[in-house]
Amino acid sequence: MPKDTPNTLLENRWDAAAAAGMTEPELLLYRSNILGQDKRVTNYGGGNTSAKVMETDPLTGDTVEVLWVKGSGGDIGSIKMDGFSTLYMDKLTALKDLYRGVEFEDEMVGYLPHCTFNLNPRAASIDTPLHAYVPRKHVDHVHADAIIAIAAASNGEQLTQQIFGDKIGWLPWKRPGFELGLWLEDFCRKNPDADGVILGSHGLFTWGNTAKDCYDMTITVINQATAWLTDTTKDTAAFGGPRHNSLSPADRRTVAARLMPAIRGFVSGNQHMVGHFNDSDTVLEFVKAQDMERLAAMGTSCPDHFLRTKIRPLVVNFDPAAQNTDDVLAGLSDQIAAYRDDYAAYYDRCKRDDSPAMRDPNAVVYLVPGVGMITFAKDKATARISSEFYVNAINVMRGADAVSDYTGLPEQEAFDIEYWLLEEAKLQRMPAPKSLAGRVALVTGGAGGIGAATADRYLSEGACVMLADIDDGALSATADALSQRYGGDVVRTVNMNVTDESAVARAYAELAVELGGVDILVSNAGIASSAPIEETTLALWNRNMDILSTGYFLVSRDAFKMFRVQGIGGSVVFVASKNGLAASPNASAYCTAKAAEIHLARCLALEGAEAGIRVNVVNPDAVLRGSKIWEGDWLDQRASTYGTDKEGLEEMYRNRSMLKRSVLPEDIAEAAYFLASDRSSKSTGNIINVDAGNVQAFTR
Ligand code: NAD
Repeated sequence: MPKDTPNTLLENRWDAAAAAGMTEPELLLYRSNILGQDKRVTNYGGGNTSAKVMETDPLTGDTVEVLWVKGSGGDIGSIKMDGFSTLYMDKLTALKDLYRGVEFEDEMVGYLPHCTFNLNPRAASIDTPLHAYVPRKHVDHVHADAIIAIAAASNGEQLTQQIFGDKIGWLPWKRPGFELGLWLEDFCRKNPDADGVILGSHGLFTWGNTAKDCYDMTITVINQATAWLTDTTKDTAAFGGPRHNSLSPADRRTVAARLMPAIRGFVSGNQHMVGHFNDSDTVLEFVKAQDMERLAAMGTSCPDHFLRTKIRPLVVNFDPAAQNTDDVLAGLSDQIAAYRDDYAAYYDRCKRDDSPAMRDPNAVVYLVPGVGMITFAKDKATARISSEFYVNAINVMRGADAVSDYTGLPEQEAFDIEYWLLEEAKLQRMPAPKSLAGRVALVTGGAGGIGAATADRYLSEGACVMLADIDDGALSATADALSQRYGGDVVRTVNMNVTDESAVARAYAELAVELGGVDILVSNAGIASSAPIEETTLALWNRNMDILSTGYFLVSRDAFKMFRVQGIGGSVVFVASKNGLAASPNASAYCTAKAAEIHLARCLALEGAEAGIRVNVVNPDAVLRGSKIWEGDWLDQRASTYGTDKEGLEEMYRNRSMLKRSVLPEDIAEAAYFLASDRSSKSTGNIINVDAGNVQAFTR
């Protein structure tokens, strides 16, 4: 269920038959997954769940109480058994004697590994005390939008009492940690009949004696809040009612396609960023509303939200009535500079003596009135998740502002979370980015042998790839296989005939909206043909010229246009052919078109250099395996030219090569990777032959 349907009640998904016979840890896993899979219950990675389970101590054989709780960095919707950390309850309890008070609470995180049960390598999260000290067997902590709407209302405590009576209590905002764990314990002791508590500006805690009781309670409380909000706000126009009209779906994408590469250029100074566009109904309702600017400026509330979205978004100066995209683009640099200045001022106002250095001051979220929301982050999944988090924030603002006054988190509190030393330590532990992280590649002929292998290589280095081809069946099969391996976020497809000028323009617009822009073009779509010159028809000649020569020109021209808008360089890789350098019998049309490609690459290398755009060529030869070219007429013609069959041809080509080796699609992909990556940052106008050695193709 998408999180974009804020006012619907949750169904109880507990299946007694499925749960029958499960152990307590298995029940915790089951409960966590069915809670977290519905993003209305909690945002991705947000919230945590726990159970206190009696276990046999591996050293003493004694029965001991063990806390199973979501470990650091997981997501309850997709968590597996190894995502939980396990800690001795008696040791956790003993930590209270070591606690020196709230100003030292961060040091308690260092003690948690000492409480590990059974050598479990999963690191305990900083939320562990929030579960350990609630004196109940099963505890859920979630960030449902309906709950945070109440938690972020200026009179949240009073609303909680009004909706839930004494069943659900209220604790004011407190940063998660040891102190909040003690607060929760104290609350439970003083309110033995309460079923849970709402944390101001944050979320919900619920508990129960069994896994099922706890699950039921979480669902019931969220539904109660949702029903109350729906009823209370039914006659209120959301966000003060509309101020603008939304553009049509096609026009929204047209505007986004123009804005996104421009924004991407401004925000990719330190590292390349990937974009995401969202024009769901929830987003559109907000970005066309009267109160959008006022609410957006107040910042998001739940710490999980603003850690992903930055405290506030940038509202782009777009007027849907005037459709002033050109003016917006002209003023974008000033708007982005103003946002950065504002962020730097916030950093200076709030920083402490030991605060980490200021991080990227650019906005993550860009709201475009009447059009939608654009997000940029270091990879596609993060850009998408940031977008989902801002949708959570929109839902929270809608609810809170309709029933009361929405309040963001106080600035200093927000800063202390954003620049929390423990959060910084987490960032420092992140693995170094891969060599193509944040890069976006367009691969033409991406459904073919060499194109798919190149896409695979780029994806393995962290790039996002759009596969462009005319073969829809092969496109979806290739995309499915790559998505299985690398996840659906990073793979896109587009039907694009490289000979069709408008199809090429449409594909680049699609690329801009789907991924934010382009860094790498692999011009690879191709055919092969064979005929003696006397039998080469004009149609056959033109077909070779159209696809190989003109097609390479059209896709490069539009890549150059987008590279220049972004202003962050770019890399073009032409997959040409040994036959572009060396003549081959009965293939004049093909060889000539391939030679044209190679010379086009040289011309473009010359033109692009001043803008940091590099253009290089890979020349394959005789890549029989995986290639569709080697399945049809070309195979028959080549086989008959040399008087053999496919196996015989492969053998013949291998023996013909100087190194006596077969050339595979992955070999071409490796050269295409080198030329696209920063490893070749000082090479342009170059040619790499990947042909196992062919003296005729030596470059001179
Ligand atoms: P392939 O047939 O497996 O892949 C080529 C892809 O291009 C196919 O998916 C096809 O549908 C697509 N395509 C064809 N016309 C198109 C068009 N007009 N618009 C968009 N897509 C189109 O072949 P491959 O071996 O992977 O070839 C890739 C490139 O490598 C080609 O340019 C080819 O000339 C070159 N090359 C291949 C070899 C070899 O031995 N395989 C040798 C030298 C050069």
